[in-house]
Amino acid sequence: MSSDTIAALASGPPPAAVSVIRLSGPAALSSLAALTGGPAPPPRRLSLRTLRDPRDATPLDNALVVAFPGPGTASGEDLVELHLHGGVAVVSGVLAALTALPGVRLALPGEFTRRAFTNGRMDLAQVEGIADLVAAETAGQRRSAMALAGGALSRSADSWRSRCLDILAEAEAGLDFAEDEADVASRIDEAARDQLLTLVAELQALIADAARGQRLRNGLTITVTGPPNVGKSSLVNMLTNSDAAIVTPIAGTTRDPIEVPIDLDGVAAVLIDTAGLRDTEDAIEAEGIRRARLRAAAADLVIHLVDHWPAEHPDGGILVVNKIDLGDYAPSTDGSVHFVSATRGDGIRALRRWLADWAVSAIRPTEPPLLTHARHRDAFIDAAAALSDAAATDDFVLRAEGLRHAAHAFGRIAGRVGVDDVLDRIFSRFCIGK
Ligand code: GDP
Repeated sequence: MSSDTIAALASGPPPAAVSVIRLSGPAALSSLAALTGGPAPPPRRLSLRTLRDPRDATPLDNALVVAFPGPGTASGEDLVELHLHGGVAVVSGVLAALTALPGVRLALPGEFTRRAFTNGRMDLAQVEGIADLVAAETAGQRRSAMALAGGALSRSADSWRSRCLDILAEAEAGLDFAEDEADVASRIDEAARDQLLTLVAELQALIADAARGQRLRNGLTITVTGPPNVGKSSLVNMLTNSDAAIVTPIAGTTRDPIEVPIDLDGVAAVLIDTAGLRDTEDAIEAEGIRRARLRAAAADLVIHLVDHWPAEHPDGGILVVNKIDLGDYAPSTDGSVHFVSATRGDGIRALRRWLADWAVSAIRPTEPPLLTHARHRDAFIDAAAALSDAAATDDFVLRAEGLRHAAHAFGRIAGRVGVDDVLDRIFSRFCIGK
């Protein structure tokens, strides 16, 4: 339990219809009493109260307030929410009055969630799921974030961990037979080896699926390439304007302007406009372009754009013939050649349809992959390696060591062991008030 009580704006920046300020910690309930002056509201019920600055009784707002006495709360501590009129002066006035109270200070980014983790209300994989949920831009990302936040991965990791410990216990029991009943010992040994190999196979299937999970989280990349003036920028604009492009100001998701986000039937993707990959003197822009070049080189799909037909079909990717309004071609998406006009819009809908079908078959967003984070994938790779070493050896001590190592790796998923060094990085992804 922390001794500080933390306060922060939990909703988006004012002005807004409603702004929510959260308070968590030992002084949360007394702080509410200090601002409302009256009797404590009934727990877990919204109550209308006039809030006043305790220093001079200035009225600050008429607000809906709710108190959640700990420990059965989101943070595991006493928790208060103030639902205010979402004005700049209202929010700043209430925060100033709160932080003037003894033991109350502004929260750091992710501090409410960090307390939930510390107080055992949530494990580390669930925390990562919540961060993903707040950042989710597409339905597919939301689905996989909800599975993670709901504890799907933690439950799997825990069950693998206990299978490791069961095999370890059996192997230890088998040692007692070693002297006089060698055949029993070797049968137990064989059974353990079979179980280990099954575990390794399951883990490998999961690890193989991890690339899909990371693409679902980070988005597919589609590069638009071709000679100057064939209409690359026009095509990117047309494809992204023709439907709600996902452009959000969430910290950490802002992308370079030549990388334009696009929602393909619930799958996040970015279109990289290689016309924007120019040389520049500006150091920051140059860095953005360097990164975009790297991403473009590793693209999941390349759109080769030309403005004449017939044209040679390049290896890999799809061929898009632009400016059909100048020639005599009908829009079509026959096979892997697509005919469009990026200025008039002919054929754009069909091309989007084709891209969405491609994205959905690559990602299968309705089957949330279990491994969406590099941290999780690395722990599973570590566990799989330790278990296949354990299966390969006849030496009991080495096998036991491999099993313990794998159990430890699984324990890292939920943050039960060995995660001190990653906590700061994980919680820094959150905004203040979360
Ligand atoms: P980029 O250099 O490949 O990015 O090409 P731009 O998108 O800047 O386009 C180059 C020129 O071609 C611009 O003047 C566009 O208006 C024009 N353009 C692009 N697409 C079409 C099209 O489908 N039809 C016609 N007639 N002009 C186009």
